[in-house]
Amino acid sequence: MKGSICECGYKTIALAKICPRCGNEMVEKFFSDFGKVLTYVKLRIPPENYSTPLDLAMVEIDNGPQITCWTDRELTVDQIVRVLANGSKYSCEPV
Ligand SMILES: [Zn+2]
Repeated sequence: MKGSICECGYKTIALAKICPRCGNEMVEKFFSDFGKVLTYVKLRIPPENYSTPLDLAMVEIDNGPQITCWTDRELTVDQIVRVLANGSKYSCEPV
């Protein structure tokens, strides 16, 4: 997936021109589509009018940043997942 990286080490999956951490220019970078689950939250009572999936996983992309992904799968910490981009929304599934 496409993102941006700064020489200070800051990484984001957004296409950012300026680093929010240090103010330097960022360059485009391709990150892996795979990552590791850092934490996983299962939402048991969804708010009204919200559609599934509503479970959330914090995923550390292999060579990239940490991102929040929606999922309808049961995940565990340290599990390897594939991250799928759908516009600015991300989901993940076990591999
Ligand atoms: Zn920076």
